[in-house]
Amino acid sequence: MTDTSLKFLEKYLNNAAPTGYEAEGQKLWMDYLEPYVDEFITDNYGTAVGVINPEAEFKVVIEGHADEISWYVNYITDEGLIYVIRNGGSDHQIATSRRVNIHTKNGIVEGVFGWPAIHTRDKSSEQSPKPENICIDVGCSTKAEVEELGVHVGCVITYPDEFFVLNNNKFVCRALDNRMGGFMIAEVARLLKENNVKLDFGLYITNSVQEEVGLRGAEMITQRIKPDVAIVTDVCHDTTTPMIDKKKEGLTKIGDGPVISYAPAIQNNLRELIINTAEDKKIPFQRLAASRITGTDTDAFAYSNGGVASALISLPLRYMHTTVEMVHKDDVENVIQLIYNSLLNIKNKHNFSYFN
Ligand SMILES: [Zn+2]
Repeated sequence: MTDTSLKFLEKYLNNAAPTGYEAEGQKLWMDYLEPYVDEFITDNYGTAVGVINPEAEFKVVIEGHADEISWYVNYITDEGLIYVIRNGGSDHQIATSRRVNIHTKNGIVEGVFGWPAIHTRDKSSEQSPKPENICIDVGCSTKAEVEELGVHVGCVITYPDEFFVLNNNKFVCRALDNRMGGFMIAEVARLLKENNVKLDFGLYITNSVQEEVGLRGAEMITQRIKPDVAIVTDVCHDTTTPMIDKKKEGLTKIGDGPVISYAPAIQNNLRELIINTAEDKKIPFQRLAASRITGTDTDAFAYSNGGVASALISLPLRYMHTTVEMVHKDDVENVIQLIYNSLLNIKNKHNFSYFN
């Protein structure tokens, strides 16, 4: 990562890109990626793909997702308070007492998630925040006043929290899930260009929309690209912070390297190529097992087009879906290196079959 790449990362993170409204973020991402690719593909829903060697028959995807979790305005009371529903896996437990940005045609309208004072609550039967009892105050006293600000049912709501570096080597921000993915695959493209690497296959650097509501952007774009191979990157949990059961979630930790997944959707020979690459290049890595599904865009690529050889390299992260998501700078570097070096080990018409 260079100073320029970090500046891009900061700008890219500080721009809100809620699910369904990723286009502004995609423009920033394509501006950064442009010098490193031959052309772009975009689709009707906003997925963006930078392509190297577009005429090549054999196609390899490296992928992250562009969207971030948010809320929708669902109901405005006569008193001018706003009730919300989720757009993606937004967390009701962390919402109260937060500032919010409501996205309207007139621009951002600020608001706050209020919460009853500790003094006024019945200690014997305290309620925890739930989607039905949290609401946003935009400083209005009637529904008409709220509407005058440009707020209506269906407006999306994000948190204003911005990027910062904690103790020199931790990146903190909302939406590191998965803005980091888009950033890391763009860095791979930059390295390929700067190191003058000539790939003998087509590389599709893919920033998919709508992952947070069920892998939808990846489902769409994989039909368009029809790739032979897909290496997906997303975030996974650091399970060493309090109240996480390692017997259930496994042991993965920020600072200990990229996390390589084992799951039915992962093609074993592609995964072994990645593991051999890590061992060769002395890139630290961790292992994670998933039953049935990985819950990432890997599943969308794997189970498309008659089966695409797919693998998942995750960036461990603390406090997922909060406004203080945290990753380790070294892991970011190592995921970039692992994807980059794995690509160097993939050949044109690479045969991943179990039956040779
Ligand atoms: Zn997520």
